[in-house]
Amino acid sequence: MAKKTVDDLRKLYHEELQDIYDAEHQILDALPKMEKAAHSEDLKQAFREHREQTEEQVERLDSVFESFGEPAKRKTCKGMRGLIEEGSEYLDAKGDADAIDAALIAAAQRVEHYEIAVYGSLRTFALALGHEDQAELLQETLDEEEETDERLSELAEAGINQEAASGE
Ligand code: FE
Ligand code: FE
Repeated sequence: MAKKTVDDLRKLYHEELQDIYDAEHQILDALPKMEKAAHSEDLKQAFREHREQTEEQVERLDSVFESFGEPAKRKTCKGMRGLIEEGSEYLDAKGDADAIDAALIAAAQRVEHYEIAVYGSLRTFALALGHEDQAELLQETLDEEEETDERLSELAEAGINQEAASGE
């Protein structure tokens, strides 16, 4: 693999923006499939609502690029590709509905945690570079990813408790 050159924080920030821009687009494609695969109505709704939120997050990134003075561009996010590829193994899984939903939630939470890590770094880079307006936009998305992660945790707990209650 070719060695990377990291000239400065500005360039790093720009590269990471393109990485998450691609990741969000991958997520936009994946969420409807997750929604279709989910058994619980609550989980379907969570995936549906997060897809709508993700559309707004892409628009927010468009604004960040604009304020940064660069065209919005995607650069393949290999990390997200791997996470989605792993999660997609459960899309047509057969077996116990609650257990499959638990697997889908675990896959989705891996994605959210990845996003939380990236947006946290990006926000910090933006602040260091003096782009406070961009840092604010990135923080808004970071908050949404954290809320989504919590919501998924609650759904996982509810699903597991339900299974315990039914004695399976
Ligand atoms: Fe996102
Ligand atoms: Fe997300």
